[in-house]
Amino acid sequence: MDFTLDPDTVAIAEAVLRFVEREVLPLQERHHDLLGSERTLFDASGRYVPEVLALRQQVRKRSAELGFYTLFGDEKLGGGGLGAQAMVHVQEALNHRVGPAQPLVQTVVLPSPFTNGLSPVLRHLNPEVLARYRDGIASGDKTLCFGLSEPDAGSDAFGMKTRAVRDGDEWVLTGTKQWITNSPYADYAMVFALTDPEAAARHKGGVTGFFVDTRAPGFSVPRVINTMGHLGGDTGVIVLDGVRVRDEYRLGEVGRGLAVAMDGVNAGRMGMAASCLGLARWALDQALEYAKVRKTFGVPIAEHQAIQFMLADSAMDIYAAKAMIQNCAWRLDSGQASTAQVSMVKAFSTEMLGRVMDRSIQIHGGMGLTNELRLEDGYRFARVMRIPDGTGEIQRRTIARQLLTGQADL
Ligand SMILES: Cc1cc2nc3c(=O)[nH]c(=O)nc-3n(C[C@H](O)[C@H](O)[C@H](O)COP(=O)(O)OP(=O)(O)OC[C@H]3O[C@@H](n4cnc5c(N)ncnc54)[C@H](O)[C@@H]3O)c2cc1C
Repeated sequence: MDFTLDPDTVAIAEAVLRFVEREVLPLQERHHDLLGSERTLFDASGRYVPEVLALRQQVRKRSAELGFYTLFGDEKLGGGGLGAQAMVHVQEALNHRVGPAQPLVQTVVLPSPFTNGLSPVLRHLNPEVLARYRDGIASGDKTLCFGLSEPDAGSDAFGMKTRAVRDGDEWVLTGTKQWITNSPYADYAMVFALTDPEAAARHKGGVTGFFVDTRAPGFSVPRVINTMGHLGGDTGVIVLDGVRVRDEYRLGEVGRGLAVAMDGVNAGRMGMAASCLGLARWALDQALEYAKVRKTFGVPIAEHQAIQFMLADSAMDIYAAKAMIQNCAWRLDSGQASTAQVSMVKAFSTEMLGRVMDRSIQIHGGMGLTNELRLEDGYRFARVMRIPDGTGEIQRRTIARQLLTGQADL
C-alpha cells in the first residue's frame, strides 16, 4: 500500500492552511477581546452572542467563496466530491496547525461532515425542494442541524418518541430532540420521526426523515446544553410542537429514515478521527517544545526517562491512529466494505486523543492545567468525542458483530 498523496490533495490542504493563517487567525486575533473568553463568547443562556455568530458566518462565507467549505460535499449536490483520503489529510493538517478551541476555525472553515453544509443526507431531498435551499447552504449563509437523538433515544435510535403523523399533503411533527449540534443557530433541521411505531418497535423501519425550516411555527430550541465545564456551546434541545411539514420536504422514502440518517456516517466518523489525529499531533508538539525548555534538577525535563516514555507513548498512539485512518480512508475510496474498520478508527482515535492530551498536560505540570495553553480544552474536547457519532461501546458492538459474522476482513 502506498499512501503518498496526490499533488492536488497536498495543494488543497496547503491552500486551506494559507487561508486560515492569512485570514482567519488574524481575524480571530483582532477580535480577541470577544473571542478569547467564554464569558464574552456566550450570553447568559449559553448561546453565542450575535457578534460571534456574525464572525462565524463571515468566515464560512469566505471559505465557501474560496471553494473550501464545500470541498467534501457530494458532486451531485454541487460539492467538490473529494474522497476520504483527501478529507482526512485536510482535517488532520488543519487541526494540527490550529489546535483546539478556535471559535472561528473548527466546524466553521469546514463544516462537520454530515450534520451541516452539503450533507450527504440532502441527496435524499426532492431535487426541486433542494434547488430552493442548496445555494444558501453551499455559500455558508445558512446552516443545518441533524436531529436524531432524543432524551430516551441515543445509541438505540429506534427508541425515539417523536411522531410524524400524516395530514393530507402534510406531516405533523411532535416530540423532543436532544444533544443536537448547531440547533440553537441552524436555519434548517434534518429531523427524524416515527411514522410507524410498530415497525420501529420491531426494529424494521418505521422512521422517516424531514427537512424542516427552523422558523416554522411550533419549532423551538428552548435551551443550550452546556457540557464539560463550558459556559455555552452549540448543542441544544429541539421541541417540535405540531410542526407542519409538506410531504415534498420528506428525506427519502417513508419508513427508511434511519438508512437516510446513516448515509454519511462514515464521513462523520472519519472526519472526527482525523481531527483527533491532528489535535494529538498538536498536543505532542507542545509537550516536545516544553520538555526541551523546562528544567528541573538542573536538566531539561526531556532528559528524564519518565518524560521520554510519555513522549514515546504518545508518538506510538499517534502513529497507530494515523496508520489506521490512512488505511481505512484508502479502503473507503477503493469501495471496500469497511464497517468494522470505520468503527475501529472512530473508537481508537477519540480514545487516543484523550491519552495524548492527558500526557501533554502531565508533561506541562501545573502549566498544563491553565486555560491559556488550551491543553485542558483539548482534553475536555477529547473526552466529549467518545460519545457522539456512536459511543466507544457502540463502536465495539459493531466491531464484534462484524467479527462474529465473518465480515470484519482484517
Ligand atoms: C457533544 C455532542 C454532540 C451531539 N450531536 C448530535 C447531533 O448533532 N445529532 C444527534 O442526533 N445526536 C447528537 N448527539 C447525541 C449522541 O449521538 C448520543 O449522545 C450518543 O449516541 C449516545 O446516546 P446517549 O447519550 O443517549 O447514551 P445511551 O445510548 O443512553 O448510552 C448510555 C451508555 O450505555 C452504553 N450503551 C448503550 N447501548 C449499549 C449496548 N448495546 N452495549 C453496550 N453499551 C451500550 C453507551 O455506550 C453509554 O456508555 C450528540 C452528543 C454529544 C455529547
